Parts: sequence; C-alpha cells; structure tokens
Amino acid sequence: MGKRRPARKPVTPRPDVLEEHPDGDWYVRAITGSASTKRYRCPGCDHEIVPATPHIVAWPADRSIDDRRHWHTPCWKARNRRSPGR
Ligand SMILES: [Zn+2]
Repeated sequence: MGKRRPARKPVTPRPDVLEEHPDGDWYVRAITGSASTKRYRCPGCDHEIVPATPHIVAWPADRSIDDRRHWHTPCWKARNRRSPGR
C-alpha cells in the first residue's frame, strides 16, 4: 500500500524582467495587490500608490535593487512610450 506522492510544482517567484528604455536598461518586477502593503510615491504622476494596488517596481540594471522605484503600472507604461524630446 504505497502512498503516492503528488507531483509538486516548484514554486518559482516571478522573475524580474529586463526592459530596454531610451535611458538604459531597467529591471522590472510586478507587485501584486496582496504584496503591496505600504504607500509609495509614484515618480510618474507624483501621486501615492495606496496599499493593495498592483503596481510596478523598477530599478536601473546597472544599480542595485536598493535604488528601486514604485510606479503605477499605467505610469510605467506611459514612461515607456514617452520619447525624449528633440
Ligand atoms: Zn503614477
């Protein structure tokens, strides 16, 4: 009477994504609402990201994660579209 062990899927954290931007490469991490427990100031719109809001954390690829910023997801995407003035 062998007990069958259910196959377990390894729980892998969502990997950070490297994105290319006009001002360099950025690591981007998606934060779920349940993981967001603090208030942050979004540098895109200068408004607060209230707790429980799914949002984006991004930091320059050549810097440490300690330099990360919290962005509203649409603000990060809008930043992506904005081209440097010329
Ligand atoms: Zn914002």
